Amino acid sequence: MDIQITKNTNPKAKPDWSNLGFGNFFSDHMLIIDYTTDKGWYDARIVPYGPLSMDPSAGVLHYAIEIFEGLKAYTCPDGKVRMFRPHSNAARMNRSAARFCMPALPEDVFVDSIRRLIDVDRDWIPREDDTSLYIRPFMYSDQSNVGVRIPDSYRFVVILSPVGAYYPEGLNPVKIYVEDEYVRASKGGTGFTKCGGNYAASLIAQKKAKDMGFTQVLWLDGVERKYIEEVGTMNVMFKIKGEIVTPELGDSILPGVTRESCIQLLRSWGLSVTERKLSIDELYEAARNGDLEEAFGTGTAAVISPIGLFSIRGEKLQVQDGGIGAVSQRLYDTLTGIQWGKLPDPYGWTLEVG
Ligand SMILES: *Cc1c(COP(=O)(O)O)cnc(C)c1O
Repeated sequence: MDIQITKNTNPKAKPDWSNLGFGNFFSDHMLIIDYTTDKGWYDARIVPYGPLSMDPSAGVLHYAIEIFEGLKAYTCPDGKVRMFRPHSNAARMNRSAARFCMPALPEDVFVDSIRRLIDVDRDWIPREDDTSLYIRPFMYSDQSNVGVRIPDSYRFVVILSPVGAYYPEGLNPVKIYVEDEYVRASKGGTGFTKCGGNYAASLIAQKKAKDMGFTQVLWLDGVERKYIEEVGTMNVMFKIKGEIVTPELGDSILPGVTRESCIQLLRSWGLSVTERKLSIDELYEAARNGDLEEAFGTGTAAVISPIGLFSIRGEKLQVQDGGIGAVSQRLYDTLTGIQWGKLPDPYGWTLEVG
């Protein structure tokens, strides 16, 4: 696909690379590709970063017709820039798109157009230790019409954000509130998709957890509120009596790329990984009797997030000594080692961007 490039003639001052945080800064350009049912994907362009205009009746504003993705690119010690498993994100975005009757974007267009954008904004990729370039692709309907019907026009956009270490002082265990009032997703719903609507509906639980001093919520299944699903923006894994257990995927759990990568690494180390239903009662018992050896979240932003404490029905349960488990640490070191090009990449997960 041909991509028109309009250079930003008014580039921003670069941020303080040692104090980026997450999602606070955006590069000088963005990528836009338009779609209509008649034309298909057309007019791919890289333009100066700036406001997107749309009609006040656009579908995204009224019916949340929007999906997104999240992945990262890294500056490696050899000076090359590499993305982590971008084809997995491309495939997942198309599974989200199908659920919302949105058009599929060819995987190669997804990956190649991001490559081109990164190339244009190459001086926005941080090089400091523990930094990366967070890539946020999203698709929404800009169609003007407040009738509830499947739109004919959409836009695919990609923006880039240089981000710092998620935990500036290294891995840091988080406190998790087990949410048993609100639900994130249900059978037949949109839990397996990355859509803005899922997050809009989750904010109230996030606020509740924050107000009580917890970092994130652990979601239970939407039907019985019994089985563990995932943590806020991450999938979740437990080490129980030497075995790694993680909730089995279904239509209410987001299939994380980090989750899949962790399962592959864990198995390659000879650890047993079981994907199955895990009830909150089983977790409670395991935490009580000392069988729960580790708990951690997995996701692109933090990579691995050790869990030090759970609040279950008003009771606080610490995971071992509340610190970082050996498996969590090894997964973090290995995954980030592969991503930052400091360790070999035996699975071909990284893709050179330039
Ligand atoms: C993005 C996301 C994850 C993690 O997926 P990764 O591909 O590993 O980043 C987990 N849960 C939810 C709800 C998410 O949106």
